[in-house]
Amino acid sequence: MTLPLPHPALAATDPELAALVAAEEQLQADTLRLIPSENYVSRAVLEASGTVLQNKYSEGYPGRRYYEGQQNIDKVERLAIDRAKALFGVEHANVQPYSGSPANLAVYLAFADPGDTVMGMALPMGGHLTHGWGVSATGRWFRGVQYGVRHDTGLIDFDEVRELALKERPKIIFCGGTALPRTIDFAAFAEIARESGAVLVADVAHIAGLIAGGAHPSPVPHADVISTTTHKTLRGPRGAMLMSREEHAKAIDKAVFPGLQGGPHNQTTAAIAVALHEAAQPSFRDHAHAVVANARALADELLARGFDLVSGGTDNHLILMDLTPKDVPGKVAAKALDRAGIVVNYNTVPYDPRKPFDPSGVRIGTPSLTSRGLGTQHMAAVAEWIDRGVSAAGAGDEDALAAIRAEVAELMAAFPAPGLTA
Ligand SMILES: *Cc1c(COP(=O)(O)O)cnc(C)c1O
Repeated sequence: MTLPLPHPALAATDPELAALVAAEEQLQADTLRLIPSENYVSRAVLEASGTVLQNKYSEGYPGRRYYEGQQNIDKVERLAIDRAKALFGVEHANVQPYSGSPANLAVYLAFADPGDTVMGMALPMGGHLTHGWGVSATGRWFRGVQYGVRHDTGLIDFDEVRELALKERPKIIFCGGTALPRTIDFAAFAEIARESGAVLVADVAHIAGLIAGGAHPSPVPHADVISTTTHKTLRGPRGAMLMSREEHAKAIDKAVFPGLQGGPHNQTTAAIAVALHEAAQPSFRDHAHAVVANARALADELLARGFDLVSGGTDNHLILMDLTPKDVPGKVAAKALDRAGIVVNYNTVPYDPRKPFDPSGVRIGTPSLTSRGLGTQHMAAVAEWIDRGVSAAGAGDEDALAAIRAEVAELMAAFPAPGLTA
């Protein structure tokens, strides 16, 4: 390990902030990071997001800007757009949304009016806030109707989705979510959207990298619009993209700018271009399949240790554990695992009898550990640590948590993280 990484100008100007960055680098190096929406970006992506592209205003789109001096910026954005189109096989890509939530807001602006009915998966079932959930602007300014998963299987019930769509006639249907461990049937959603006259938005924020790597079916050609963040399994900078067929290109572009945003974050656009280049390499396909293989192996190891997994396992990068049978609340487990060097998040499970801020579940995933090179042969150890950590959480055994933390740090030291080696 070569930590701390050199940030000489930052250290000279603002040692207090530099020390915080160094501490975060060390934390990310030493811990087993299992939050499924997180990852490690490459050094190249980090470098691209910290350049003088930061200094440039470029409202508009390549060739149609409201500011001069776009000789290089236009080329950067075109590169990102062309790479997105090639990687995902789409006709149109907008790489300007600041993040996943504003990308989704732009979709509302493009295809609905305030007060219109929109449909998405309920947040406590695994959907995202921006799919019309009440506390979100999308649920306050639109009439959100929500589908879920079946209590017995943990899977989406397409009869329920169809019935709801035909009854409510939403303008937009969102599929995708934040805690869905199973393959999304885009064709089934598309059929329902067609029948009910809705625009289908596939929000693949979590699984974009798996799709790019061929480890999850693509929403192309089923979805009208594809919304994705770029910083989760796609392993790019914090940002987002909207993709579609040519027929929706104008509506989407107008919604992002001038509808919702001002100047694009060009340093982020550049880093997106780099991440898309990396994701187009054969090694990224191997990586995406390894993410899924690791998740499956980890799920099997957890099941063998008596853990209750929502839907009984996983098809993708994500596992949702219901800790009710272990008699440890999700938040207690998550905080204890954090002290053990295993970083997870507490999460509601479908039909959770507990409150959202103190739910029954813990959500984990394999993107970050796979980016560090851990393979299926390590998943027994990971499951063992989680098992011991959850037991220690229940028993209040801080010594056991400290012992796990040391073991975790020892293994992670053998697998240097992308981006954290100079
Ligand atoms: C992460 C996520 C978002 C939001 O992305 P932010 O960049 O956090 O705003 C939207 N939809 C889904 C399904 C997500 O997983």
